[in-house]
Amino acid sequence: MDIEKIRADFPILSTTVYGKPLIYLDNGATTQKPKCVVEEIEKIYYTTNANVHRGVHYLSQQATDLAEESRVVVQQFINAEHSKEIIFTKGTTESINLVAHSFCQQFCVEGDEIIISAMEHHANIVSWQLQEAIRGIKLRVIPINEKGELKLDELQKLISSKTRLISVMHISNVLGTVNPIEKIIEIAHAHSIPVLIDAAQSVQHMTIDVQKLDCDFLVFSGHKVYGPNGVGVLYGKEKWLNQMPPYQGGGEMISTVSFKGTTFNELPFKFEAGTPNYPDVIALGTAIKYIKNIGLDSIKAYEDQLLEYCTDELLRIKDIRIFGTSDKKSSVISFLVGNIHHYDMGMLLDKMGIAVRTGHHCAQPLMEELGIEGTVRISLAFYNTKEEIDQLVAGIKRVASMFG
Ligand code: PMP
Repeated sequence: MDIEKIRADFPILSTTVYGKPLIYLDNGATTQKPKCVVEEIEKIYYTTNANVHRGVHYLSQQATDLAEESRVVVQQFINAEHSKEIIFTKGTTESINLVAHSFCQQFCVEGDEIIISAMEHHANIVSWQLQEAIRGIKLRVIPINEKGELKLDELQKLISSKTRLISVMHISNVLGTVNPIEKIIEIAHAHSIPVLIDAAQSVQHMTIDVQKLDCDFLVFSGHKVYGPNGVGVLYGKEKWLNQMPPYQGGGEMISTVSFKGTTFNELPFKFEAGTPNYPDVIALGTAIKYIKNIGLDSIKAYEDQLLEYCTDELLRIKDIRIFGTSDKKSSVISFLVGNIHHYDMGMLLDKMGIAVRTGHHCAQPLMEELGIEGTVRISLAFYNTKEEIDQLVAGIKRVASMFG
């Protein structure tokens, strides 16, 4: 990979903060956008702006074609069988809420159980807790071990005749652990239980094949895959989506409407009520083409090298504690140094031009499990470099020396 050439595609990377060159290590929160994505959005508004699926006129047809082409780009990206299995949403959070609401409405009664894990993001906890309140379902939680890995033998014990769905993250946004989702899906399917994979932290780092995985649902956000904000994806197997009721009512999700009753549109439109965010849907396709062009395998190999280098260098720092020490990790490192508060570390690194995330990372139950309030988190992208990591490590050492 030609990193200098790649970095030139991301104008923000040559910006300065407080007069220092920006070192952006908060890619788990959101990724920066290549020029082609921003230019695509500008181009749509300047040349092709019209509401999709509604007009017979030229611009509407053009915008519709581009948005539907983007659906095929997403389909091919995760190797879904049909493009109608790709639903555009606002992001991972909305995708999980859609499934929680609609799946539970159709398939869950009071006392039924959904299994999640102890390391989930709030999006994959609270969406189900809302259903606990509405429908009296119960959440069961797969615990983790001291390395920050799921205890799979405990999963076996949690499964019962009441289990309706298992919803787990692929890669932890705090620990960096790559969860054994193949195994989880195999265990679940042996009991005819469907599985939702939260791929918010994985689709940008490795090749995902939903048919090979055989997952039932998979969700991710556009803004974390170098695409625009406000657009995300829900992949669902046709057999589930067909049985699930619509999540929201409005334009485009209907077939006919009368005061006597309404019939619903077919997939994927049944789940896309109202004017979709078509400019960002189209630009998401551009972002996916961009990363496919670099190659997910090359991205993974490069980012794995960076992760190893970064971990080794960090471990040289006195009194550092890294949270998440699995052998199978990707792109994320959470740590604390001595008694230095994560917020202080983040603020002082920021003054050196280094952007990291601090806090609970929308995973408060995990923080409770780890017995801490929060961490400093580094999350890597393919445009990061070893030199940036060297500067980060020097920065952390400087902060540590300030605190004595
Ligand atoms: N799941 C995981 C694992 C995440 O890392 C995030 C974002 N931090 C989300 C869900 C929520 O994503 P979004 O805010 O884009 O909906």
